[in-house]
Amino acid sequence: MPEDCIFCQIVAGEIPSNTVYEDDEVFAFLDVNPLAPGHTLVIPKDHHERLNDLPADLADDLYEALHELIPAVEDAVDAPASNVGFNNGEASGQEVPHVHGHIIPRFEDDGGHPIHAVGG
Ligand code: C5P
Repeated sequence: MPEDCIFCQIVAGEIPSNTVYEDDEVFAFLDVNPLAPGHTLVIPKDHHERLNDLPADLADDLYEALHELIPAVEDAVDAPASNVGFNNGEASGQEVPHVHGHIIPRFEDDGGHPIHAVGG
């Protein structure tokens, strides 16, 4: 793992986090700067920078975790929907270069925006 990767340090328990889920391959925790209540980050434990860098079996594991976590997070905060997305590369807004999916609960008339930020 890269010494300076914040998310590797979170997986290793060197930086505390509010853990939402953990299995052998995947870790999920609450975002420290949430865009909505319950904003959760879902990451592979192994360090890969971009979504498209993941080996297929690890991508499957990540998707399986998301499949369970999306409804669980929505239920936890009583949200009817969520934005689920990955910033993929620095120019897209990816600040932490360790693959992470955002689950951002959404509520009726919450004033948020859908994921089509380019130009908007
Ligand atoms: O997709 P992007 O790289 O911009 O998202 C990084 C996310 O990681 C941010 O939402 C930020 O709040 C979160 N973060 C965190 N804990 C840290 C550092 C960043 O939850 N220690």
